[in-house]
Amino acid sequence: MKPFIYDYTLDELKDWMKEAGEPAFRADQLFDWLYVKRVRSFEDMTNLPKALRAKLDEAFAFVALSEITRLTSKDGTVKYLFGLHDNHAIETVVMRHNYGISICVTTQVGCRIGCTFCASTLGGLKRNLTAGEIVAQVVTAQQMLDETGERIASIVIMGSGEPFENYDATMKFLRIVTHAKGLNIGQRHITVSTSGIVPNIYRFADENTQINLAISIHAPNDALRSKLMPVNRRYPFDEVMEAIRYYIAKTGRRVTFEYALIGGVNDRPEHAEELADVLNGMLCHVNLIPVNYVPERKYVRTPREDIFAFHRILQSRGINATIRREQGHDIAAACGQLRAKHMESMR
Ligand code: SF4
Repeated sequence: MKPFIYDYTLDELKDWMKEAGEPAFRADQLFDWLYVKRVRSFEDMTNLPKALRAKLDEAFAFVALSEITRLTSKDGTVKYLFGLHDNHAIETVVMRHNYGISICVTTQVGCRIGCTFCASTLGGLKRNLTAGEIVAQVVTAQQMLDETGERIASIVIMGSGEPFENYDATMKFLRIVTHAKGLNIGQRHITVSTSGIVPNIYRFADENTQINLAISIHAPNDALRSKLMPVNRRYPFDEVMEAIRYYIAKTGRRVTFEYALIGGVNDRPEHAEELADVLNGMLCHVNLIPVNYVPERKYVRTPREDIFAFHRILQSRGINATIRREQGHDIAAACGQLRAKHMESMR
């Protein structure tokens, strides 16, 4: 199996050119074709000598993803189901906001974290994606947007999978998409979301980037969090909080807490009060996400007025909080739903 061209950083492509006896500037040209002109084959790279194009074609695979399904929501959200070379499928979502277009990428096929409200984890983890398979999600979506002259302005790493369990590939992905000679997406416009893999929160804090960090917290205490997220038994609530305090102290950056509101489970006023106690004085923001109905768990949505009440309590206690605007509701845009349907139909 040939490696994907999107798996390579510019420096690695320069090394490859050197070994192939080519001048280093050829790597810059190649990188430009991949990420600025965004062509779909080596053949299209017309300022590279024909012999070099043939060499590249022999050494690398170009196509990392094939489109299986594309669903477009009334609100402009587009959800892709992409096929991988080994017949697995992954989801990628493009969302339109008033501040620009964002893309939500996937880092693993399935997930082993087991959050009880999430469809992505139902079949467990199949495998990690390579950096190039994550990069290709952005490039492929951008190629489609190129047709209408639109541009991806921000990236959230919140699709299926736990990016901090595929840490090296995720970091390499970030190096490739932020490169000034390529897609050039600003670090401040990228958010990586973790369920709380404590050692890698410390590692990420020490990376010295400007990339935003989001933590899936979903409960205000250890006992409830363990019920909703089995990962909490491995990395308990207090240890996650300690790691986040380290991250904030080290980077001076605000952290986002993702809190999925589940009807009657973690959405009561006392949960909001307890969350406010825990987050008191922390440089943070809370993103409240009303969960979708999860048939396997019998989880139901929090009524609208209770969502607002939860939000009000946090605000009144000085905690910065927003309610996530739902997007793509009509196309099953919640994490893992489209892939789950696809797997079902394959069976
Ligand atoms: S919410 Fe994220 S970390 Fe949790 S099971 Fe789903 S994909 Fe994995």
